[in-house]
Amino acid sequence: MATKNKIWNKTKSVMAAGWCNVCKKEMLSDAGGWIVNAEKKHFCHDGKDGSCFDKYIKEKQLMAEDATYEKEI
Ligand SMILES: [Zn+2]
Repeated sequence: MATKNKIWNKTKSVMAAGWCNVCKKEMLSDAGGWIVNAEKKHFCHDGKDGSCFDKYIKEKQLMAEDATYEKEI
């Protein structure tokens, strides 16, 4: 499987590789401080209210709790 695309090596300029799933901040390909979860979603460490990944996890937990309540009805 040698299908490397040379376009990626064309420039050394920084390009956006994605966006934070929570605050929609641009993720730059050469910048650190990003978290990628198992779903390939990106999160920044340094969002408006701290880590966006922590925020996402908390929201997920709340959703999971809601789902549990529904099941218990
Ligand atoms: Zn963020």
